[in-house]
Amino acid sequence: MEQTLYAVLCAVLLLGLFSMPFLKPRKRIGLITLVLIIVLISLFLSACQEEQDVIIVNRVVDGDTIEVKMAETKEKVRLIGIDTPETVHPEKDEEPYGKEASDFSKERLKGQEIRLELDVEERDRYGRILAYVWLGDEMFNETLLLEGYARLATFPPNVKYVERFTAAQKEARESKRGLWALELEEDEISSEGNQEMEQGKYLGSRNSDKYHLPTCKWAKTIKEKNQVWFESPEEAEAAGYKPCKNCCGLCKEVSRVEK
Ligand SMILES: [Zn+2]
Repeated sequence: MEQTLYAVLCAVLLLGLFSMPFLKPRKRIGLITLVLIIVLISLFLSACQEEQDVIIVNRVVDGDTIEVKMAETKEKVRLIGIDTPETVHPEKDEEPYGKEASDFSKERLKGQEIRLELDVEERDRYGRILAYVWLGDEMFNETLLLEGYARLATFPPNVKYVERFTAAQKEARESKRGLWALELEEDEISSEGNQEMEQGKYLGSRNSDKYHLPTCKWAKTIKEKNQVWFESPEEAEAAGYKPCKNCCGLCKEVSRVEK
């Protein structure tokens, strides 16, 4: 917009110079050349500016965190207003639907050119940029909510789109999309009791590398078709599974004592 205005201004100036009969031809040509040079330099500078504004998604860390490449630097960006289930938190285990959310973000964002919109705070305490991620006309933060890959997470003062986000979450929840479908299943499982769970002593999922006690809250969210049962922690670990930190930190020790 600014550039157009600038170009029009220059054109008017040039026309003015051309139609000034009182200047000597040499002076006139000199002035015209000067104006042309100024126009060219400013166009070049604005082109450089635009190149710097191009942001490419370099890596998707998890559902709501990405790494972007801007000019020379790489920056971590946290998508705001939402929260996807954890997949890479150092102290927490993978949460149900975390992998699905992370895969969705990878599929949609990796290598894409995006635009970042900031709210009141530019960065969080980890130094990550806090932003709304735009893919053309689509705001990806909202897409994650709409498709049931994320929950609303409002952190004032960054609440520019809170109403829009609340509506998106309501829609996903009512249509039982993504994690909302899972939540429903979880309720059904706990109301049915645990008879079906007693197929072995330790439970893993085909979608994760953790094994659990059947009583673990995460174990209860593993769909029947994804369940893998083990008789012992050793058997689970031989199959490449690791103990869930929530329920199975001491599984191995306990099973050794039992023997
Ligand atoms: Zn567990």
